[in-house]
Amino acid sequence: MTEFDYIVIGAGSAGCAAANRLSANGRYSVALLEAGGKDWSPWIHIPVGYFKTMGNPSTDWCYKTESDPGINGRAIPWPRGKVLGGCSSINGLLYVRGQAQDYDDWADAGNEGWGWNDVAPLFARSETWAGEPSKLRGTSGELQVQESPLTREIVDAWIEAAVEAGYPRADDYNGESQEGVARYQLTLAHGKRCSAATAFLKTARSRQNLHVITHATVQKLNIENGVATGVQALIKGKAVTLTASKETVVSAGAIGSPQILMLSGIGDQEELAQHGIEVQTHRPGVGKNLQDHLQARPVYKCTASTINTEISSLWSQAKVALQYAASRSGPMTMAASLGAGFLCSELSPERPDIQYHVQPWSADSPAEGPHKFSAFTASVLQLRPESAGHLKLRSGNFNDAPEIHPNYLATELDQRTIVAGLRMTRNICSQPAVSRLITAERGPGKHIDSRDEEALLDWARSNSTTIYHPTGTCKMGSDAKAVVDARLRVHGVGNLRVADASIMPQIVSGNTNAPAIMIGDKVADMLLEDNV
Ligand SMILES: Cc1cc2nc3c(=O)[nH]c(=O)nc-3n(C[C@H](O)[C@H](O)[C@H](O)COP(=O)(O)OP(=O)(O)OC[C@H]3O[C@@H](n4cnc5c(N)ncnc54)[C@H](O)[C@@H]3O)c2cc1C
Repeated sequence: MTEFDYIVIGAGSAGCAAANRLSANGRYSVALLEAGGKDWSPWIHIPVGYFKTMGNPSTDWCYKTESDPGINGRAIPWPRGKVLGGCSSINGLLYVRGQAQDYDDWADAGNEGWGWNDVAPLFARSETWAGEPSKLRGTSGELQVQESPLTREIVDAWIEAAVEAGYPRADDYNGESQEGVARYQLTLAHGKRCSAATAFLKTARSRQNLHVITHATVQKLNIENGVATGVQALIKGKAVTLTASKETVVSAGAIGSPQILMLSGIGDQEELAQHGIEVQTHRPGVGKNLQDHLQARPVYKCTASTINTEISSLWSQAKVALQYAASRSGPMTMAASLGAGFLCSELSPERPDIQYHVQPWSADSPAEGPHKFSAFTASVLQLRPESAGHLKLRSGNFNDAPEIHPNYLATELDQRTIVAGLRMTRNICSQPAVSRLITAERGPGKHIDSRDEEALLDWARSNSTTIYHPTGTCKMGSDAKAVVDARLRVHGVGNLRVADASIMPQIVSGNTNAPAIMIGDKVADMLLEDNV
């Protein structure tokens, strides 16, 4: 088949949700095109498998940023899922919606239909929440969400210490108020990852009208007289033209979506001309407004047992594997972080501006494996950075990954906030509940005085990395830099929408999987409403 009513490009968090909802009434034929393969690898489904799937070209696009002055000139890996489920198949499983105010800010900027009261029902519709019932939580959606069943003494001690330091406990950080400390909620069921592909395609794939095509890389959109008519794709190595009689939805993620638009002539006309690309519409915002969360990673050595020491020998690793095989429990069910904190620094006393990811393990880099000593990481980040970077085509050839310029820590607020976060970390770790278990601060280290802002900032610049949340590169709005309108229609091209993390006008205050799923779910509603 080469003719469909709708084509959705990219089977990631948003694309899977969109294709499911769009195909549910059986009226329309929908093609979901994914550049990666099927999610057959067992490491995708074992929660801790992100250590194996990240950096692995069979599941990861393996992007790398350009050298960035904000992080002392370092160039860092930016993994992005390349498989059914996209990033939700290789991510850390943390389920976070963000703050109500994030969405109200989007709506206040002129994006009608995106306020918290509009989107909250969509978050609930797509989930089945296994925790305390609440009117904001879903009970019959496709995405399985539960509190982390795994915990460790050191993480619970850190949570207690935060309370001792005066921070509140959060009953449900995805409920009425995000603020406080808690254990993370996860996209997990029966000890296995619940990716967007598991949640939204498992049942939907048996529908006659949904065609999920893997190893299908879209290289360009076909646009005739200002209207998108379909795509040019390489499917299992063969060049194919597919047509969409109604609309094409680009859900290829914050890097893939702007790349496809630019290669199709939607972007800054001067940049496109440099690569010999015929301009369809001059949209200078494509690839701009690139926002990410940058995490600084203080590490504390401790006496409590942590994953570092629990898996230090082959024998202990075998025991852990056996435990998982027998009961789907133990360290192999570990999400990327166990302890959550959404806290206010002195720079934002009314609204959390700091997020913690507390991990009962530590490493210099995931590839090098955990340290040989017992330690934990209290990763800290700024929830709403002002800094924004950009993407640039390297050439007019799809196979050349775009240049990624994150532009981290470029503004004074961002610099002061990360310093404030490092000081808060020290304050929490000096409280009795956790300090009794700590033997040393490995980083930043006691040679750096908390009063020395410059030294703390320099440490953050040298010891921080992405927490994998690029957003905003096809931002929604009506200003000159906007790429899509509030119904996610690309300005200047008919029958074409973008729906994924790239449409966020401002990065949400939290992790980005749940918001991307909500965006995919919402575009399907809008398509069905607009095409009656
Ligand atoms: C390692 C890692 C850990 C993370 N941890 C968390 C976490 O714990 N919690 C959380 O909330 N968020 C986390 N995130 C972020 C979150 O998962 C993503 O923001 C979210 O999944 C993005 O969804 P998306 O739909 O925008 O894009 P994606 O999920 O990236 O989907 C895009 C899809 O499009 C496909 N594609 C791209 N180009 C083409 C093309 N030309 N043709 C066809 N297909 C194409 C890709 O292969 C991919 O499948 C993490 C991300 C990573 C990488």
